[in-house]
Amino acid sequence: MDCVFCKIINNEIPSEKLYEDEDFIIIKDINPVAPVHLLLIYKKHVPTINDLCEDDRRRFWKVFEIIKNISQKLGFDEYRLVVNNGASAGQEIPHIHFHIISGRKLGKIG
Ligand code: 5GP
Ligand code: ZN
Repeated sequence: MDCVFCKIINNEIPSEKLYEDEDFIIIKDINPVAPVHLLLIYKKHVPTINDLCEDDRRRFWKVFEIIKNISQKLGFDEYRLVVNNGASAGQEIPHIHFHIISGRKLGKIG
């Protein structure tokens, strides 16, 4: 699979994993837009939210708990979550991920 996130998940590309469970990892974005810019990545290669099956969706129940826990662990309690869903929405890597952005005052989204 020629997907950079699959390679990170499979340790074909080395990375510092700030969190890992059976379904998700969290890593730092290589090109951060703020002092905190993390990526929560689904381990299974699913391109967009629209491609999730029912079993996938059930696994997402814990996403907000994972995000709250990492924010408390790293010491930021306010943050922006972004999911670029599809190329015209700014998605460059077609493998589902949440951006977790914090550490500075953020402007309006656009
Ligand atoms: P998208 O545009 O698909 O929503 O976001 C992809 C994100 O992945 C971008 O913010 C980009 O900086 C990040 N990224 C791309 N390649 C790598 C990589 O090899 N390692 C890490 N940690 N982040 C990456
Ligand atoms: Zn992938």
